[in-house]
Formats: sequence, structure tokens, C-alpha cells
Amino acid sequence: MTTKQTSILVIEDDSQIRRFLKVGLESNDYHYDEVTNGKEGLSEIATRNPDLVILDLGLPDMDGLAFLKQVREWSRVPVIVLTARDREQDKVEALDLGADDYLTKPFGIAELLARIRVALRHSHKEADKPIFENGSLKIDYIKRHVFMKDKEVHLTPTEYKILVFLAKNAGKVITQHQLLKEVWGPTYTEQGHYLRVHMHQLRHKIEEKPTRPKILINEPGVGYRMKIDI
Ligand code: CA
Repeated sequence: MTTKQTSILVIEDDSQIRRFLKVGLESNDYHYDEVTNGKEGLSEIATRNPDLVILDLGLPDMDGLAFLKQVREWSRVPVIVLTARDREQDKVEALDLGADDYLTKPFGIAELLARIRVALRHSHKEADKPIFENGSLKIDYIKRHVFMKDKEVHLTPTEYKILVFLAKNAGKVITQHQLLKEVWGPTYTEQGHYLRVHMHQLRHKIEEKPTRPKILINEPGVGYRMKIDI
């Protein structure tokens, strides 16, 4: 008896990229399906229910962001978006619309596979365990205690909320907008300076070298990412 392969649907009009993805994904034991436009993409997601979607934002028949918005009205399938180098601003909007991650073309297969594993891990609800461990960082969600190398770290409630939100999404990039909304509330999404101040303090408490963070990484122009397996 074979276990069911994880199925990945690729929505991309560029045949070279599709070929690259097909070879890379099939050789890593993923089940690969492809379509070349948004209209077919929507019907494939609805009928085949793939485990993960790789979505090019530059589709011939519809805007990738509009596509994503439509999908998120009825599906929580993990989505990794592909952006062209000159459309990098789209990635923030894609994340805010519910994309799980992004890759800027050109990208390597190792990087893609790592992002796929992270996106699948979150869809499998591993983020709901009571104790979070990542390298030397440990969070006890029940007692609300944080440890670095087995030493307790005392965080303010705001610092704790920031850390927990990033931990629950470990490996995924989180936009400033998402963090502000989660920690301070929907009316604070433009208050980027709040976040910078508290992130600065948080890094001083958990990073060995706060100016060169190894856990809470900056994603320039986008937001923050908690690195996995520090
Ligand atoms: Ca394209």
C-alpha cells in the first residue's frame, strides 16, 4: 500500500517555469498538476482540492491578486505566490490577502521545497501544540513562559503577543500590517513605529546579537519571519 502523495497545483503561464517546477516537484515525490491561466486554476482548486497551490501573480487572463482574493473567499488551501523581480511590491499585498509565502523569480528548487514544507506544516495544524520549540527558543503557551537556552526570558504582554504570532507562523513571512492587526488591532495597521519599537526590545531580550538577529529576521520592505531551527 502506498501513502497518498501530496498534490501540488501549479498555475503559471510560463512553460519554462512549469517544466522546472514539474521536474523539481516530481523528483521530490510530489504529485504535480498544472494549468496555465486563472480560470482553469479556480476550477482545479474547486474540483481537485490540491494540498498546496503555487500561483504566478502574472497570469494572462486575470490579475493574480484578484485570483487570490477570490480563492480565499472559499478555500484555505496553502498558496505560495511567484512574483517577477519588477513586481515585488505585489508580495506584501499577496500576503495580506492570505498567501502563505512568496518566491521571487528566479528561485532555486531547494528554496521552493523549504517553503512548501513550511506551508504544509501550518496547514496540518502543528502550530497548535502547547509547547513551541525552535532551536534554543521555547514557548510554553499555557503558562505563557518564554525560555532561551533554558533560561526564562521576561517579556511584556505586547512583546509576548508579537513573539507568539511569529512562532505560530514560524518560517512564514508576516507583513507589518498583519502583525499590527493581530497585536494592536485593526485600527492600528498604519502604526509601523509601534512595531519597530517593540521588535527592538524583543530582540534585545531573545537575540544574542540584537543588531544581527538570527531568530526574528527582517524581510526588507515586507515584514518579519521567525527563522526555523535556529
Ligand atoms: Ca506569468
